[in-house]
Amino acid sequence: MYSDVPKPRTDKSQRKPFCYEVHIGNVGHEIRTCTGPKSGSRSATHVWRKGGVSDVIFFPKCFHLYDRVGKSRVVHDERHSAPRIPAILELCIQAGVDVENYPSKRRTKPVYSIEGRIVDFESVAGMDEMETNLFFENVDDNEVDVLRRDPNSELNAEDTNLIELSTRTLDSWFEMIGGVRTIMEKYNVWTCGYCPEVQVGPKGHKVRMCRASKHQSRNGLHAWQEATINDLVGPNYVWHVHDLNGPPLRNDLKRYYGKAPAVVELCVQAGAPVPDQYRSMMRLDVVPPERDEVDLVA
Ligand SMILES: [Zn+2]
Ligand SMILES: [Zn+2]
Ligand SMILES: [Zn+2]
Repeated sequence: MYSDVPKPRTDKSQRKPFCYEVHIGNVGHEIRTCTGPKSGSRSATHVWRKGGVSDVIFFPKCFHLYDRVGKSRVVHDERHSAPRIPAILELCIQAGVDVENYPSKRRTKPVYSIEGRIVDFESVAGMDEMETNLFFENVDDNEVDVLRRDPNSELNAEDTNLIELSTRTLDSWFEMIGGVRTIMEKYNVWTCGYCPEVQVGPKGHKVRMCRASKHQSRNGLHAWQEATINDLVGPNYVWHVHDLNGPPLRNDLKRYYGKAPAVVELCVQAGAPVPDQYRSMMRLDVVPPERDEVDLVA
């Protein structure tokens, strides 16, 4: 598996936007879609280096909220103190999962909004106690919808057979996507209309960090809009490699090639059956012409 990122520069101020192209296969592809630094000088061919897990699955981070109801927006002065964690994890925490080091206030009494002001009967009753228990809060499982991880879900050594492992990985992927969709029906996720920033919570945060177009007119604030699942779990579409031992995918044949999310392509290459919903996108029905036939079709 490869991803295209320029070599690290010694001068950090010189850093330019990366090209995020990812390719899965024995060799990088030759399709000219590079938008990275100096891509013009090499006719938009990518420069490949070995990729990693985060090139296959990328989980953007957002601020963790201790109290999503009482204090739903991180403000600019809190930008360094508020922890940032993968947004998908924050979504699960807000939906009820307890994660060590990222406590979350769970309410036993409802919160009322009276004339725009939040009236929280719990904090009126025991403010000090609440503050001191901030990191040691016990939650009664019955009070919230708790998603629990199956402690036996760890892969055991006998199951390392690649086909089985990739099949199971793909199943988990679909389970996760389905779960995120369901939780997102109840819990809001926001994304900036101009940059990839995301925030889980009733509203977007107020940290002035947006550098995308027109940010001056917003004083650096993000332009929040409702997020989709793709903002939370980057699907990162890659070209489907039909023949793993064949030559690199060719630029002039790209209309014959299909695509798939990187996870799907990786698992399929490792032996998992092609998921039905991706059969047409991966263009399994299309056979690219052989090298010597190219002149006839070009
Ligand atoms: Zn590139
Ligand atoms: Zn933004
Ligand atoms: Zn194929």
